Amino acid sequence: MPSDLDDVERFTEEFLKRLQFGQGVALPRATKNDLYYALARTVRQQLMARWLETVQRQMQAKAKVVVYLSAEYLLGRQLDNALLASGLTDTAEAAIDGLGLDMQTIRDTEVEPGLGNGGLGRLAACFIDSLATLRIPAIGYGIRYEYGIFRQTFEDGHQVEQPDSWLTLGSPWEFPHPEMGVKVPFAGHTEKYLGEDGRERTRWVNDWEVIGVPYNYMVPGYRTGNVNTLRLWSARATQAFDLHVFNNGDYLQAVRSQAFAENISKVLYPEDSTPQGKELRLQQQYFFVACSLRDFLTNVMGPGFDPRKLPERVIFQLNDTHPVIAIPELMRILVDEKDIPWDEALDICRQCFAYTCHTLLPEALEVWPVELLGRLLPRHLEIIFRINDDFLAELREAYPDDELRVRSMSIIQEHPERAVRMAYLATVVGAKVNGVAELHSQLLRDKVLSDFSAYWPDKFTNVTNGITPRRFIGLANPALTELITDTIGDGWLRDLGRLVELEPHADDPAFLDAFAAIKVGNRKRLAGLLERRDGIVLPQDAMYDVMVKRLHEYKRQTLKLLHIVTLYQRLQENPDLDIVPRVFLFGAKAAPGYWIAKQTIALINAVGRVIDNDPIVAGRLKVAFPANYNVTLAETLIPAADLSEQISLAGKEASGTGNMKLALNGALTIGTLDGANVEILQAVGEENFFLFGLTEPQVHAIYESGYQPREYFQNNPELRKALGAIASGAFSDGNREAFAPIVDSLLHEDRFLALADYQSYIEAQDRVDLAYRDTRAWNRSAVLNVARSGFFSSDRSIQDYLDRIWNASPVDAS
Ligand SMILES: *Cc1c(COP(=O)(O)O)cnc(C)c1O
Repeated sequence: MPSDLDDVERFTEEFLKRLQFGQGVALPRATKNDLYYALARTVRQQLMARWLETVQRQMQAKAKVVVYLSAEYLLGRQLDNALLASGLTDTAEAAIDGLGLDMQTIRDTEVEPGLGNGGLGRLAACFIDSLATLRIPAIGYGIRYEYGIFRQTFEDGHQVEQPDSWLTLGSPWEFPHPEMGVKVPFAGHTEKYLGEDGRERTRWVNDWEVIGVPYNYMVPGYRTGNVNTLRLWSARATQAFDLHVFNNGDYLQAVRSQAFAENISKVLYPEDSTPQGKELRLQQQYFFVACSLRDFLTNVMGPGFDPRKLPERVIFQLNDTHPVIAIPELMRILVDEKDIPWDEALDICRQCFAYTCHTLLPEALEVWPVELLGRLLPRHLEIIFRINDDFLAELREAYPDDELRVRSMSIIQEHPERAVRMAYLATVVGAKVNGVAELHSQLLRDKVLSDFSAYWPDKFTNVTNGITPRRFIGLANPALTELITDTIGDGWLRDLGRLVELEPHADDPAFLDAFAAIKVGNRKRLAGLLERRDGIVLPQDAMYDVMVKRLHEYKRQTLKLLHIVTLYQRLQENPDLDIVPRVFLFGAKAAPGYWIAKQTIALINAVGRVIDNDPIVAGRLKVAFPANYNVTLAETLIPAADLSEQISLAGKEASGTGNMKLALNGALTIGTLDGANVEILQAVGEENFFLFGLTEPQVHAIYESGYQPREYFQNNPELRKALGAIASGAFSDGNREAFAPIVDSLLHEDRFLALADYQSYIEAQDRVDLAYRDTRAWNRSAVLNVARSGFFSSDRSIQDYLDRIWNASPVDAS
């Protein structure tokens, strides 16, 4: 992409101008934040012309637009990504250097927008990156939370949550448009009336409303000159809202009302894999969906747009059930506002929506009580009931003698309370339903939504998740990026399948040495960061064994912990035992209300402390748990990993994407046959992957036959010893109560079969220990992991969505 800031002198000049006229300071008096803002604005300006041009071009082409609706975007830092996309990284570094400033300090000034919880939000961020890179006309819609995912700290090893005030110093990447505010009605009632043509209509008379103010963000494609838009909504009180109360003379109440309205976009729910059935959350969902649909219909499609043409012009992709309320909202607009007959409107909706399911855990499927939905969105509830009535009538014709089946497929659940099953609503109306990895999609078809897949076999499809190589190797691992470019040439960052060209080099000793040296360098970089950030000192000469992901029972951090305790006990018993030194790195936030997950964090830290203080294991085992795992930390942590822990119980992890990031950076996986692990294993080959554990059908069989975790405990001496030590207070100064709930939960229920998989896991870890000793063979496997990870680019995921679901195509530069 040609760039007019391409030379260092011009860049420097522009930067100083931004500092002087944008921040109003001269260089000698500039703070870190001034410098960051000036640099951000310099790059931003470079992208803006492209942005306006892209929007213009896409409008004119009247092409089909992909509208990605997601309540979360876990974006990561923007500065480096903007530099990379516009090809200005080297120029900027030289310019900053030339001024005697430190680029890293400027980078570290940026607080990442943590507008998501974990995998689901990060997926949305990867997808908008790929959509822009592939030049697809697309827009992402979401919520501009004032507080994103909490900042995690530890006190005495226990998680403490701090508010994430990422906006304290402002953000140079957002463009607010208060003049484009959208009104969002809530509550009230509906009433019937006769239209001029004598037809009966319904209108929604709402009780209160808020304004959604759009904030635009640029989404630069990687060196394509294409810049798409991410539009996040922020809630404001309406003037009428205030005025009404002001006129009653109650100033304090007026201010409170304003605070009430603005609460809607105040904070991200820090839940992952379990929905929060809270009223405010439903308000958030409707708020951003209503703003987005209104904005799309009036501003993106333009005035005079005929909504009957919607199926040619748009596909709304629903990222999980959070935005599913968009379905009745579009029905309401079409029927109540645009006067389109019900059946025709439903036909339009059936072509415009597609739904991505992200889970298999029944407790994670979102339902909204009928009472709550009816109170907050009375018209939407009516519409949902009518969609359901139509659907059940259709089913009764298909299955005249099977009322049981018909009822089990109802969008409305009756027990334990009457509630709307949002996943069913999305499945009934959506044109397509996709899972996020082959195994997950198959289990959706065969189990979670089996009645629906029997009724509509063609509706179901798979799109295996992916990650953007720009961030997760280009930015995260510059040394490996350079080695790869030196080896196979340029262009692979947007054609990741080309990594296979590295395969022949897996047997080239010089290449392997270079590869190994990069790992060493990345370990050093991580050690430096953790020492500065957390005061953690990491031994360098060790295997880096990494488990980074949200803390959840199904992900089985406790199984990892049992392995660590087992190794520790082996060393205590036999101090001369020859084991490969390991650093165990954890990164994990627990939902603030998820008590057992928070206990698990405390236990990891407690085990780490005991191991740290034991001279027997010094230099051989180390547990490091840096607080606040986020995208920024991931970018330094993942390239340093040797071993990737992907040990969820088979059939529980929908896909995982951390597994892909680690494989792409040359970590070998130890994992179960779960989620995308299955496809990683297929891609990299059995000999380059440490497989263990029960398969999904075996898990099913164990559940069916009545699982007895205690039997595994009693029959396995090492397991008995490890769990026994935790129970006896060995990691809690003799306090047997401290971790009793974790021990009891494992012994009595063990919902996720950690004890059943323990022996298999330990044996696989012993194979890891052996394999690591053969450095050459290990590095060869690591290189093959990199070479064979091309499939896991989110560019490939997006291409699959285009082919299987969206039926949209790129709009090229003229
Ligand atoms: C990729 C990513 C995740 C998802 O990790 P999984 O191992 O797939 O659960 C979560 N958090 C952050 C910060 C990530 O970058």
